Amino acid sequence: MLALASGNAAGSRMRYSLFSLLREALNGQAGWPAAWRDALPRAHYDIVVIGGGGHGLSTAFYLAQEHGITNVAVLEKGWLGSGNIGRNTTIIRSNYGEPGNTPFYEHSMQLWEGLEQALNYNAMVSQRGVLNLYHTDGQRDAYARRGNAMRLHGIDAELLDRARVQELCPFLAFEDARFPVAGGLLQRRGGTARHDAVAWGYARAASTLGVDIIQNCEVTGFDIVQGRVRGVQTTRGPIAAGKVGMAVAGNTSHVAAMADLRLPIESHVLQAFVSEGIKPVIPNVVTFGAGHFYISQSDKGGLVFGGDIDGYNSYAQRGNLPTVEDVCESGMAMMPMLGRLRILRSWGGIMDMSMDGSPIIDRTPLEGLYLNAGWCYGGFKATPASGWCFAHLLATDRSHPVASAYRLDRFATGLVIDEKGAGAQPNLH
Ligand SMILES: Cc1cc2nc3c(=O)[nH]c(=O)nc-3n(C[C@H](O)[C@H](O)[C@H](O)COP(=O)(O)OP(=O)(O)OC[C@H]3O[C@@H](n4cnc5c(N)ncnc54)[C@H](O)[C@@H]3O)c2cc1C
Repeated sequence: MLALASGNAAGSRMRYSLFSLLREALNGQAGWPAAWRDALPRAHYDIVVIGGGGHGLSTAFYLAQEHGITNVAVLEKGWLGSGNIGRNTTIIRSNYGEPGNTPFYEHSMQLWEGLEQALNYNAMVSQRGVLNLYHTDGQRDAYARRGNAMRLHGIDAELLDRARVQELCPFLAFEDARFPVAGGLLQRRGGTARHDAVAWGYARAASTLGVDIIQNCEVTGFDIVQGRVRGVQTTRGPIAAGKVGMAVAGNTSHVAAMADLRLPIESHVLQAFVSEGIKPVIPNVVTFGAGHFYISQSDKGGLVFGGDIDGYNSYAQRGNLPTVEDVCESGMAMMPMLGRLRILRSWGGIMDMSMDGSPIIDRTPLEGLYLNAGWCYGGFKATPASGWCFAHLLATDRSHPVASAYRLDRFATGLVIDEKGAGAQPNLH
């Protein structure tokens, strides 16, 4: 989707509706305006957000919509959607058990539920359910604890026995398998959303409210005067700013280093895969309990799946064959019929892995510089709440209550949020 218009005036937005569809059908589709303005960089903004991924764009939208701050620029080094927002496996859920995480991800889930109306954009949010399989009594008990924690927060969770999982997904390996399925934890409100439509929807809505979205504009340095960030250097010239927010996901360490900050983040590549299209077979999102594997079916029919990160630090947006083999083995162990399918495409994205597997939404030691990072495997589902809470922080200088645990200093104080219980091992979260 290209933005054709240039300039800096706030755009007027055609409302997408059945009526506009009908009118354009009769009009030869000639009347659709560009979805967002392709703005030219200005000399100064109240707030500059670095990174035109899901989190940067949602931050800009909520700054304008919730806080009335519209003198905002989103600077993106490539094109919108070129990062992880356009590369993920589209799973959304709020099935978290740690106190720091549960209210945040549920806030995100509730924002997903009203997102298409809020943005007037079809993000194909599909609450088809997320089913986490268990294979042992110990896993069942762990899922029971997680489900109870969710229900205590008013979040839907159902513990299913083997027979109920079999009704939902008869194609799984229940018997005569290395890891027979014994049951699952189901969150019916979880599901999928179309990832790039989320970026386009936020971009369009933010642009209409007056935000400048500037593509092909890489931040190459910070202007720091007396310990305070006053703006950024970019490939399209210097831009002054009252405040600067970083939302650059896998490039976090690299961009932070330009401000002499060393962060508890490592970058790793995560691969994803899609098969040839087949008739509807998987009704929901299914995750394997005996390995790291998750799968769902796209509306085009392809099975979309993924597994572990490649396990070594990398800035490459492509992975290697040992991980491809490992992912496919997990898939075959969970769902043997996968072996009859051909893989159509695979790709990779750079993940910002934090030391405890949870994100950071906080101020940095540098006055005027704010950080949104550490999303690991789970940043797509967080897109609405991350933007909501980062906008709140940028606008008010206070953490939003549902994101108050996502402090940068928790790695010094020991108040970590280790949902997986894996310890300080970014490649294991
Ligand atoms: C294969 C894969 C599968 C995944 N599956 C899921 C899933 O199913 N569910 C889920 O919740 N999460 C998933 N994730 C994680 C999720 O996609 C990310 O956590 C999330 O998208 C990160 O936030 P973002 O959208 O803002 O990142 P990005 O889209 O990566 O945005 C960051 C942007 O910053 C830009 N940038 C970087 N440096 C600069 C600079 N110097 N100047 C200007 N711009 C810069 C980049 O070009 C990029 O566009 C997955 C990730 C991958 C890679």
